[in-house]
Amino acid sequence: MCLATSSNEIVQEDPKDVENPSRIIVITSGKGGVGKTTATANIGMSIARLGYKVVLIDADIGLRNLDLLLGLENRILYTVMDVFEGQCRLDQALIRDKRWKNLSLLSISKNRQRYNVTRKNMQNLVKALSNLNFRYILIDCPAGIDVGFINAISPAQEALIVTTSEIPSIRDADRVAGLLEANGIYDIKLLINRVRSDLIQKKDMMSVRDVQEVLGIPLLGAIPEDHQVIVSTNRGEPLVLKKKLTLSGIAFENAARRLVGKQDYFIDLDSPYKGVFQKLVDWFLVPEKS
Ligand code: ADP
Ligand code: MG
Repeated sequence: MCLATSSNEIVQEDPKDVENPSRIIVITSGKGGVGKTTATANIGMSIARLGYKVVLIDADIGLRNLDLLLGLENRILYTVMDVFEGQCRLDQALIRDKRWKNLSLLSISKNRQRYNVTRKNMQNLVKALSNLNFRYILIDCPAGIDVGFINAISPAQEALIVTTSEIPSIRDADRVAGLLEANGIYDIKLLINRVRSDLIQKKDMMSVRDVQEVLGIPLLGAIPEDHQVIVSTNRGEPLVLKKKLTLSGIAFENAARRLVGKQDYFIDLDSPYKGVFQKLVDWFLVPEKS
């Protein structure tokens, strides 16, 4: 059980699972509105479905909507600010997902006025969550230029930069990569969102490979533009929970599998179903190379 004792202190009593340390990953971008929250919700949900204990921290205060994407907006009674102020315990601020109990949501604050989390606060918080044996701690972070960015990234060891294929977004992603490195985060991966293969074929959009090469950051995944993203946001049900996955759902699931080290290939955005099937065929029919 984890307790808040005073405004800035969080005390932990559970024995720590030393064999499975937490991975603390910040999800950020240079530009706002490129898909950080969508990525956090879908990748977080996928990792939980793979069986890991996951907590998603909503640290993008002004644009708090991770709760909406997960359909948990009515469940938030307390936030991390209440924990810091001694109003509640950390476990009271942790909202467990209705569908996957090993997925929890934690909001830093309900409004921007009360957002004065320091680096030390964030570090204490993440330490307490790691002592609660959350294997994956994903922080939905403000964009690089926004207030709170530096504090939100301070406890992270890894980062996922979300960008679209548009030049301003790529340029800002490059700047944020520099900011992350300047703050000691070198394990950085790239998620390219809202990819449209029709535009790429017409040479009206940069290809995934070109964006990756320009930025020189290892690729975690590429997510196609998909109107189902909006439908799923409105329903509060991440895409990866759909019975028949759409293209973007498959792509998010793939990215999550790659993040946890369960998959090393990329799906073909033009024929993802064939790609998955082909992989199965390869897996079962082709003898292993010695
Ligand atoms: P951020 O957290 O970076 O501000 P969001 O995840 O809130 O970005 O996404 C911004 C907007 O873009 C939302 O309206 C969302 O529904 C939309 N969006 C994100 N990813 C996609 C996608 N792959 N296809 C279509 N719309 C998307
Ligand atoms: Mg957001």
